Amino acid sequence: MTSAQLRRALRRHFGFSSFRAHQEEIVQAVVAGEDVFAALPTGGGKSLCYQLPATLMDGLTVVVSPLIALMQDQVDAAVENGLRAAFLNSSMDAGAVRETWSRLARHEVDLLYVSPERLANGEFRDHLTDWGLAAVAVDEAHCISEWGHEFRQEYRNLAILRHEFPDVPIAAFTATATREVQEDVIQQLSLREPLVVRASFDRPEITYRVGRRTDEERQIGEFVASHRGEAGIVYRSTRKAVEATAERLRAAGVAAVPYHAGLDAETRRRHQAAFVNDDVTVVVATIAFGMGIDKSNVRWILHGDLPRSLEAYYQETGRAGRDGDPAEVLLLHAPRDIATIRWHIGNMEQDSERERAERNLREVLAYVDSAVCRRRLLLAHFDEEHSGGCGNCDVCRGDVSTEDVTVPAQKLLSAVVRTGERFGAHHLVDVVTGEATERVRQLGHDRLPTFGVGGDRGRGWWLSLARELEHGGYLERQRIEGQSRPGGFRLTSEGRMVLAGKQTVVATASDAAETQRRSRRSSGASRDQAADATPLREDQQRLFECLRQVRRRLARSRGVPPYVVLSDKTLKVLARNRPTDRAGLLRCHGIGEAKLDQYGSVILRTISEFLASGDCRSTGDDPTLDA
Ligand code: ADP
Ligand code: MG
Repeated sequence: MTSAQLRRALRRHFGFSSFRAHQEEIVQAVVAGEDVFAALPTGGGKSLCYQLPATLMDGLTVVVSPLIALMQDQVDAAVENGLRAAFLNSSMDAGAVRETWSRLARHEVDLLYVSPERLANGEFRDHLTDWGLAAVAVDEAHCISEWGHEFRQEYRNLAILRHEFPDVPIAAFTATATREVQEDVIQQLSLREPLVVRASFDRPEITYRVGRRTDEERQIGEFVASHRGEAGIVYRSTRKAVEATAERLRAAGVAAVPYHAGLDAETRRRHQAAFVNDDVTVVVATIAFGMGIDKSNVRWILHGDLPRSLEAYYQETGRAGRDGDPAEVLLLHAPRDIATIRWHIGNMEQDSERERAERNLREVLAYVDSAVCRRRLLLAHFDEEHSGGCGNCDVCRGDVSTEDVTVPAQKLLSAVVRTGERFGAHHLVDVVTGEATERVRQLGHDRLPTFGVGGDRGRGWWLSLARELEHGGYLERQRIEGQSRPGGFRLTSEGRMVLAGKQTVVATASDAAETQRRSRRSSGASRDQAADATPLREDQQRLFECLRQVRRRLARSRGVPPYVVLSDKTLKVLARNRPTDRAGLLRCHGIGEAKLDQYGSVILRTISEFLASGDCRSTGDDPTLDA
């Protein structure tokens, strides 16, 4: 198929003017009957990679998807784009199942979403042949791998596909980028010389920020207030913190709901639906929330506590900005988060588990305390080299000040050496700050030359320096045989270089570490070519709000989430361009032929009324919207 043909199909069905990175080559491969393994970041546009081929090939494309909720949303979105999509899962009543089966038998479905359990059923697989199976897409394919973080036994059933359908192409998609997962997926699914695509995991539209949590109520409140009316998620590490934060936000007039595993299933479902449907703007949640939410207009993510791994952090922040418009994420952390995580680590059963958790923690600490471009560090986690200087994180924007701490570091390192490389941070800080505790006196450490040399700074400052020296690789912990807790500090070779004056140490200055939210999003990058990140003018904003109201009513009457009707980005383009005819609408991002047919006249009416009156009073009462 030619590139121009694919582009026309993209325009017609999705209303997009260009492919995102790698989409075109993947679509080409699937249409040509080749197997594919594709690792694309969250929001990278994986669905389109199998949905577009489904419209172009004869026969049925089966999509394996792990979550029922996800299937529903994906099918809703596909149907809105005029695709002949359906799903089969255990939540459907017998009538709905029969209806779908007969559509399948009449070859009226191009795209069928199913759970991995269903594919394990031999009778079902027999029918696939009758229905003319053309391709299989395995979404969230890392679930097949024990190396992945969401292994699901049922995914192992998929191994049978290659044997029973030797000529049908299989395309596997995941946002987990490790090579182990890649090899495992390819092997488990017996992919034949697949096209392997590993996209950049960079999310240029996301602004990364990190700050010390000094006054959580004020900091969280201010951040959320600065995103008034925009959808976002606050992650907290405990149920208690979730409830407290949700309560405070509500008291401050923010439409926020809590979400955690302690709430009953019905409440969780209701809160999730309210968020997806734009009935509330904020969810305060534990990490139990998020997987299976494709809401494209999440504009910000705030982590109120230190996350346990960079991998998890990246997946969670990746939920912002799927539509490619600018999004902002902030991580707030305090020293006591480390103690909490270490406590959990101490309770872990297996050595290997503990070691992995400890490594993850170190990586997170290196991220939050670093004076290096955040994007560079995040991408390094995915073995991707970024030159730094991304211009779209707090470090690159100059919001984090750094300080040369070589001299104080030498004082602390010297104390480590002089006390025999056996003590932890608290004792060392006692020595350096000249705290003559019982223990210090007993050990004679009050007679050391380093005793009291750091009296000019506070205890907290020294403790955090000790921590920075540890994950900066200048200090390491002694391992004590048969004991899970790490022992005292000793110098690494790097540490010795510093002590010898051959190397300097630069740290983020703790008093400046509280994030200053300057120049909000002024340089927010964006994922798609057609995107324009500049904010709307005031009149454009009013039209945007009118269109939002109309979208809400349309979504209600159709029983689908608003972002499925039209994305925020499409509304912005409409508010800017104000098309007055159908041809103009078709040129707008996200409006293909199906959406033009369904919503074209309502949108044009809203715009023309707005142009006439500068308002949208009447659209709210339009009876045709309730049809
Ligand atoms: P993933 O499954 O990789 O996390 P999705 O398939 O949910 O990502 O796509 C994320 C968002 O990107 C969706 O809102 C989708 O409509 C949008 N999108 C996908 N491809 C394009 C494209 N070529 N141009 C513009 N937007 C796109
Ligand atoms: Mg997806």
